[in-house]
Amino acid sequence: MLSLLIIMLRIKSINITFGSYYQHTMFIEPKNSKGWLEVVCGSMFSGKTEELIRRVKRARIAKQSVRIFKPKMETRYDKVKVVSHDDNYLDSFPVDSASEILDWIDGIDVVGIDEAQFFDDGLPEVCNTLANAGKRVVIAGLDMDYLAKPFGVMPNLMAMAEYVTKVHAICMQCGSAAQYSYRFSKKGGRVQLGEKDQYEPRCRACFIKGMATQTAGRRR
Ligand SMILES: [Zn+2]
Repeated sequence: MLSLLIIMLRIKSINITFGSYYQHTMFIEPKNSKGWLEVVCGSMFSGKTEELIRRVKRARIAKQSVRIFKPKMETRYDKVKVVSHDDNYLDSFPVDSASEILDWIDGIDVVGIDEAQFFDDGLPEVCNTLANAGKRVVIAGLDMDYLAKPFGVMPNLMAMAEYVTKVHAICMQCGSAAQYSYRFSKKGGRVQLGEKDQYEPRCRACFIKGMATQTAGRRR
C-alpha cells in the first residue's frame, strides 16, 4: 500500500516536472550544425507567428541574414509584412509558389516561412533543398483546420523537421490549453481567413462540444 502511494507520488512529480519543462522551455538554436528545419505549429491565436518573429530576430542579432516568405493569398493584415496578432512584425516576401522561394535566397542564412499551411505541395521539398544547402529554415503554420483535420503540407513538414514546437492558445470556454481553431460557422470552405469574431481557440472537450451542437443546428 505504501509502495503504491510512493509510485503515485512519483508519477505526479514526473507530471509536474514535464508540465513545467514543456511550458517554459524556450527554443535555443543548436550550435555547430548547419542546415536544418524547425516547425512551429498550433491553432489560431497560439502565438506561432510571434515565435517565428522571436527566432528570426535572434538570428538577426547573431548577424545572420534573414528573409521571411509567405504565400501571396495570405493578405489578412498586410501585403509585405509578417504580422502577429499582437502587432509585432517583420518585413516579408510574398510569393506565388513554394518554388519561387528558391529564386530569392542568395546570401540568406535563415529562411522564415509563415502561414505554411497555405503553400502548395512543393513546400516540403523546397524546405529540404534549403536545409541541405546549409540554411536554417523556420516554418510557422496551422497544424489543423477548423474541422481538426491536418492542414495541407504541415504534417509532411512536421515529419521532416529536426525540431517541432507545438504552441498552445488558451481555450476561450474553459481556460485550458487549446489546440483547436473552432469556427462558429460551417459556411465557407477550408480557407477562410480568420478573425476573432469567426474563430476561437478551444481545448479538445470544448471543441467536441461545439461541433456536436453545430451538428444539432445551433451556433454553439
Ligand atoms: Zn475548454
